Amino acid sequence: MRKIEQIKISAQLPSPKGVALAIMEICRRDDATMAEIGKVVQTDPALSVRLIRLANLAAHAGRPVAHTGRPVAAIPDALMRLGLSAVRLLALGFSLVDQYPNGPCQAFDYPQFWSHSLLMAVACQELGGHLPGGSPDELFACGLLARIGCLALATIYPVEYAELLAEQNAAGGTLLELERERLHVDHNELTATILTDCGIPSALVEPVCHHEAPEASGFSEGSRPHQLAHLFYHAKRLADLGLTPETERYGKISELMLLGGKIGLDADKMGAMVDRIFLQWRLWGELLKVPTSTPPPFAKMAAAPAPKSGGEGDSARVRVLIVEDDPASLITMESILSGILGRPVYSSINGQEALSKALEVMPQIVVTDWHMPVMNGIEFCRALRATDWGQSMYVIMLAGIEEEKEIIEAFEAGANDYVTKPVNIRVLSARMRAALHYVKLLETWEQDRAQLKQFTAELAISNRRLEHLALTDLLTGLPNRRAGLNALSQAWLGANRSGQPLSVIVIDIDRFKTINDNYGHAAGDIVLKEVATAIQTMARKDDSVCRLGGEEFLVICRNTNLKSAFHAAERLRKIAKSLKIKVAEVDIQTTISVGVACKESGISDADAMVNAADKALYAAKNLGRDRTCLISQGQAHSPHNEVSPEFNFPDDGA
Ligand code: GH3
Ligand code: MG
Ligand code: MG
Ligand code: MG
Repeated sequence: MRKIEQIKISAQLPSPKGVALAIMEICRRDDATMAEIGKVVQTDPALSVRLIRLANLAAHAGRPVAHTGRPVAAIPDALMRLGLSAVRLLALGFSLVDQYPNGPCQAFDYPQFWSHSLLMAVACQELGGHLPGGSPDELFACGLLARIGCLALATIYPVEYAELLAEQNAAGGTLLELERERLHVDHNELTATILTDCGIPSALVEPVCHHEAPEASGFSEGSRPHQLAHLFYHAKRLADLGLTPETERYGKISELMLLGGKIGLDADKMGAMVDRIFLQWRLWGELLKVPTSTPPPFAKMAAAPAPKSGGEGDSARVRVLIVEDDPASLITMESILSGILGRPVYSSINGQEALSKALEVMPQIVVTDWHMPVMNGIEFCRALRATDWGQSMYVIMLAGIEEEKEIIEAFEAGANDYVTKPVNIRVLSARMRAALHYVKLLETWEQDRAQLKQFTAELAISNRRLEHLALTDLLTGLPNRRAGLNALSQAWLGANRSGQPLSVIVIDIDRFKTINDNYGHAAGDIVLKEVATAIQTMARKDDSVCRLGGEEFLVICRNTNLKSAFHAAERLRKIAKSLKIKVAEVDIQTTISVGVACKESGISDADAMVNAADKALYAAKNLGRDRTCLISQGQAHSPHNEVSPEFNFPDDGA
């Protein structure tokens, strides 16, 4: 058995009670009369007030004057005006509003649900006034009940639905998919069942159930159900806007502006309609005890600056290019558009001229005629989209009759919008508002992107800083062991490539521990720093000095043979010995021992070379410190030293 049947059998569906139920029963009979229904309605004062009010209100909502007439005060008149099917639907809607001001599902916001539904109802009623042959009252009720399936699911499955809502909040995903996956039934299915059970014709029920995605409904373009599904869709978007906090409203407005253009309302008329909807929402809210709010006038919302753009988005900064070969038409368009923008617009008389003009002035919006000599609008549009700089311009194409084939061709060429000629000022204004909105959004996006770029640049700088820190010894400011050994392996590779000699010098301060012991660790630090600075300053230009750790240093001597390295080492040793390091009025003197090794046969890599130099250093310590030893062919030597035998440097031609 299908899930929906199970729910129906267990009689869990929200259903009308009392008077509303009685009305449903009567309406089910073929011989039902208005008088009979009127009698029942009159027993419910709240319902009576609501129906009379609706009958009077509906009279003003976009109705032809002939249908309006005097205000009604009596139920029979109200019922006549509303019609049987609307009364039935309304009785159901109002009955449910009264029954479910709250409900068992903790996570489902019942008052907010009704607030949204009520706004949708009022929006449907208003939009219905613009739909030929629409019954605004019936549409009001459809709007009120369009999402009743959500309330039903929350009420029948309070725990599961709460979990489902929590999951949607956390992970996203569409409500419909989650419902099907978790509950094996979705809210549109339930809405359809509830409405059909109350005898609502499928001609209304089906479009209602496609109010979230009218394009996916499969209704043929322009058919009645197609129009209705779009009407419900737009009503929902309007209701969403009404319940959206101010900071998030911005993005929802452009779509509604476009809607205005589509149903032939200019910005002012569209604004007036939205404002009327919000006002009615509040009044109905009082009557039905449903919470509402007071959004600002639509014009104000639409003019609100894009978030973060800091009051920008002022249309006087927007550059518009008109491309039109007909002089009279050009003049008209120029005056309309400069009127909207509050500044002059640019113009060209054919596509070719327009291309160079566009490159010169970089318009954000281009309004182009289709048929022009030299290069027509379609060719121009394609050429524009083929450039880097013409990608984000908003292009409105003007053309004769609204032929589907032509519209498709325009969009395929890269146009963003299409307006038929002769141009209707109100339609063009509405489309321009949408274009301006697009420009504002684009600017915000570009600002965000610029910020992101700056952020990335700062990150790169701070990464470089971090990298520097990671490779630098904090005490002496010299490259640390890691950096030194990296530099050494590079130097080794370089020497391999060039065949040039390479040597290293390893330095260790003599009896440094005693300095720490005698003068304290802080004094030791100062000595370390001074020795490091002396080595660094006295090293040759191409040498690299690093602190290997503790009181040990490494000097990389590029393009240097053993003999030159030895002399350099001796120079450093003498400099260190001559230092008088003043710490707290005391002159501290120190000496260093030095080991030297070079890249020679038997030394296979950079590590082996440093080990050899270490071995030489060890020899220097053993010979009594304050001296330089070297390794040649695996043997330690101390040249110029009385205790070791005379040493002849190998002749390598350097
Ligand atoms: P030798 O002549 O044999 O090299 O004697 P030495 O005392 O210099 O050698 P030893 O390796 O025994 O001691 C090195 C000392 O250097 C021990 C350690 O406390 C000290 N030392 C290492 N790093 C630092 C430092 O950053 N600051 C200070 N003040 N002392 C350090
Ligand atoms: Mg033309
Ligand atoms: Mg040491
Ligand atoms: Mg030492």
